[in-house]
Amino acid sequence: MMKMRYGIVWVALLAMATAAGRAEDVVGQEIAPWQPGMLDIHQISTGRGNSALHVFPDGTTLLVDAGELGQKTPRHTPDRPDGTRPAGEWIARYIRHALRNDPKPSLDYALATHFHDDHMGNASDVLYMSKSGAYKLSGLTRVGDEFRIGKMIDRGWPDYKYPEPVKVGFMENYRAFLKWQAENNGMEVQRFAPGRSDQVVLCRDPKRYPNFEFRNIGVDGEIWTGVGTETRNHFPPLEGVPRADWPHENMCGTSFRLSYGKFDYFNGADIPGVPAEGYPEWHDVETPVAMAVGPVEAAVVDHHGYIDSQNAFLIGVLRPRVWIISVWDAGHPTQRVWQRLQSRRLYPGPREVFATDVHEATRVVIGGIDKLASDRGHIVLRVSPGGGEYRVVIVDDASESHRVTKIFGPYPSR
Ligand SMILES: [Zn+2]
Repeated sequence: MMKMRYGIVWVALLAMATAAGRAEDVVGQEIAPWQPGMLDIHQISTGRGNSALHVFPDGTTLLVDAGELGQKTPRHTPDRPDGTRPAGEWIARYIRHALRNDPKPSLDYALATHFHDDHMGNASDVLYMSKSGAYKLSGLTRVGDEFRIGKMIDRGWPDYKYPEPVKVGFMENYRAFLKWQAENNGMEVQRFAPGRSDQVVLCRDPKRYPNFEFRNIGVDGEIWTGVGTETRNHFPPLEGVPRADWPHENMCGTSFRLSYGKFDYFNGADIPGVPAEGYPEWHDVETPVAMAVGPVEAAVVDHHGYIDSQNAFLIGVLRPRVWIISVWDAGHPTQRVWQRLQSRRLYPGPREVFATDVHEATRVVIGGIDKLASDRGHIVLRVSPGGGEYRVVIVDDASESHRVTKIFGPYPSR
C-alpha cells in the first residue's frame, strides 16, 4: 500500500518536473508560455523592421529594437499580421501575449542597436501622440509607452554626437521620450558599454543561473578584444579621415553575444562586413567583431542579409546551426549572402536558415531559396534550462493566433 502510494507520488513529481523543465510546444496549438529556467528569444515579424523580445532564465526581459518603417514601396514585404495597426502596436501586443503569465509585465532593458527607423520607429508621418503629449508614438516609443522600461541602452547617450550629431528626423522625438520616461517613470538611460558583461544582467533571480552572460561586443568602432573587458578602436581617429569615409550609422551599431551554459547567440544588428568598392578596409566591422565572438549556436544575419553583410570570415568563425533573418525588403537576403550562408567551404555540417517573411521577388530571383527551413512567421528560439539544447519554434504571423506552425530541433549546444 505504502509502496504504491510512493510510486504514484513519484510519477506525479516526474510529470511535474518534465512540465517545468521544457516547453511543450505542439504544431497547431498556441505557443507554450515561458517557464523559469528557459531562455526565449522571439524575432517578431511585422514587415517593418527588427524587434526581438528576450526572456532570460530568471524572467528578466530585454527588448532589442522595435522597428517601424514609415513609407513602404513594392520592394517591401507586407505588414504582419496586417496593416490595421502600426508595427509598434503589434509588437506591444505580441510582448503582452509572450509575458501573459506575468501579472505586471515590464521590460527590464531595452536596447536600440542604432538610429534607423527599421530598428527604432519614425516620427515623420506619425499622428499618434502619447497620453502625456510629450512625444509621438512609433516603434520603440510606442512599446515604451505601454511597458515600463527599467534601463534604456543606446549608442549615443547622453550627447548623441558620434561621429557627428545624429541628424535623423525622429531623434528629437526619441530624446523627448527618454526625458519624459526618466522624469516620470524612473527610466535609466545608458550608453552601450563595449567589452563589458555587467551592463545587462539577470535582475530577478541571478544566483540561480550563474552560467548566464550578456557580453557587449562593440559599438562606434570600439570592439572587445576577447580578453577581460579590454577593447580597441577599429576606426582610425576621424581627424585624418575624409568626411565621405567617416563611419556611417550601420557601422556604429551595437553587437552582443548572449551565453547560457554551452549555448551562445550573436546579434550584430546592421554592421557591414563587405566595404563598398573604393572604401577603406576598416569599413568591415564584422571581421573584428567575429574574432571577439567565436563560434555560436545561433545568430541573427547582419543587416538583414543585405549586400554589404555576412562576409566569409564572419560566417566561418560563427558557424552556427541556426541563422535568423529579419526581413522587410526584397534584398533580404541578397543572392551572394544566401550562397555564403549555404557554403560548406566556409564551415562544415548542417545549418538551418529561418526568415521572418521572404519577398515574392526574392523567391523568383534566388536559386535554392526554397531550402529555407522557414520563410514566414515569428521565429522563437527556445533554449532549455541549463542551455544544453534548443529548439526553433515558428509561430503564425498572419493573425494573433500565436499558433505554432513548425518546430525544429532539439539541437544540442556544443
Ligand atoms: Zn536594419
